[in-house]
Amino acid sequence: PLWSHATLGLRIQRAMSSVNIPPPECMLRPLEVPYRYLFGPGPSNVPPRILAAGARPIIGHLHTEMYEIMNDIKRGIQYAFQTNNHMTLAMSGSGHTAMECAVFNTVEPGESVLVSINGVWGERVAEIAERMGAKVHTMVKSPGGYFTTEEIEKALAKHKPVLFFLTHGESSAGLAHPVDNVGDLCLRHNCLFLVDSVASLGASPLLMDQQKIDILYTGSQKALNAPPGTAPISFNERACHKMFNRKIKPVSYLLDMTHLSNYWGNDSKSAREYHHTGPVSGFFALRESLAILAEKGLENSWRQHREVAEYLWKGIEDLGLKLFIKDKDLRLPSVTTIAIPDGYDWKELLAYMMKHHQVEMTGGLGPSIGMVIRVGLMGYNCSKFNADKALTALADALKHCPKRRG
Ligand code: PMP
Repeated sequence: PLWSHATLGLRIQRAMSSVNIPPPECMLRPLEVPYRYLFGPGPSNVPPRILAAGARPIIGHLHTEMYEIMNDIKRGIQYAFQTNNHMTLAMSGSGHTAMECAVFNTVEPGESVLVSINGVWGERVAEIAERMGAKVHTMVKSPGGYFTTEEIEKALAKHKPVLFFLTHGESSAGLAHPVDNVGDLCLRHNCLFLVDSVASLGASPLLMDQQKIDILYTGSQKALNAPPGTAPISFNERACHKMFNRKIKPVSYLLDMTHLSNYWGNDSKSAREYHHTGPVSGFFALRESLAILAEKGLENSWRQHREVAEYLWKGIEDLGLKLFIKDKDLRLPSVTTIAIPDGYDWKELLAYMMKHHQVEMTGGLGPSIGMVIRVGLMGYNCSKFNADKALTALADALKHCPKRRG
C-alpha cells in the first residue's frame, strides 16, 4: 500500500481538521536541555534546592499563603541589601525591569539625570532615561575605568540631576566600583543615588543603608542562583517621597510603584488588589535563594567569593594570561575579566570550551566586546573545584586553538 494505516489516519484527520497549520514536528519531541557549567557572567547554575522550590505546585498569586511568601522575600531582600526600607519588593522580570522601574518612577520627563558609564550598564540606563524623556547627562570612562568622588561631585554640581546612576558590579568590565561617600554627595546635592548590584549582590560588600544608597536593585540569576526572571529592588524614604509626589504618572503601567507597592503590601491600603499576575514559581525559587543566603550569612558569602576569585586570578596568571582590571581591590569577585591573549580569536576559545568541556564563559559586552573573556563563579558555583574546572578548560583551549600571529 502507498500509505500505512497510521499515516493514512493522520492524513484523514488533517483533511477533516479546521486548522490549517499542523502541530510543529519539534513540539512532538521531548524537551532536551544539556547540562552546562555556567561559568559566564550569568545566569549561574541553580542548586537542586532552589530548582525544587520552583517546581512546587503553584498557588494563586493573591492567596494569603503567597502573601506570606512575598513577605519572606521582602525580609530576605532587606537582609541581602542590609536595609530597613519598608519599600522593598521583587520585580516580576529580569534586572532590566528593576532598572526601568527605578528610572520610570523617580524621574519625570524633562528632569536632569546623571549616569556614569564605564561599561554597558550605564549605557543602558542612559538610554532608558532618554526614552522616557529625561534630560540625560553622562560621565564616560572606557571599560574598567572608575569615577573619583571629586569627578562625581563636579558633575552633580554642574548638571543638578534628580538621579545619579552608578553600577556597583560592572559585569561587562569586571569592575567593583567604590560606593563609599557617593551617597553623602548625592544627599548634599539633593539627588537620589541609584545603584545597580545585579552582578555583585552577595559577592562583593554592599550596605544599602550605611552607604546611603537611595535605590538599589539586583537580579535573581547571579550570586543568588535563582532562575532568571525576578529582580529585588528597594527604595528608601527619600526615593519614596520623590516617586509618590509626581506631577504625572510614570510611563509604564506595569512598573508603576503605586500599584506594585500595593501588590507587595507596602502601601497603607488594607487590601491588595489585582495588578498583574506575578511569577509564582519564580517567587518560590527567589525565596529559597534568599533563604540560602541568610543561612550562609552575607559576610561568609562575600569572603567565599573573594577567596575563590583570588584563587582563580592566580590560576589565570599562572597560565600566562593577564587580568583586565589591574588593581586587585577594584576587581569584581563574581565576574573576572581576562584580557584577550595576543594572537587568539576569543570566539574560538569560547567555542572550544563549550564544545569540549561544556563550560560557558563569555566575551565582552557593549564597549568591552573584543577586549575581554569573562569568567563568573557565583554563589553555588563559587568553589575552588569549579575554579579548577574553569582553568582546565581555559588551558586546554589555549593549547588547541590556533594562534594567528606571533
Ligand atoms: N546590570 C548588571 C550589572 C548585569 O550584569 C546585568 C545582567 N548581565 C543586568 C544589569 C541586566 O540584568 P538582566 O539580564 O537580568 O535584565
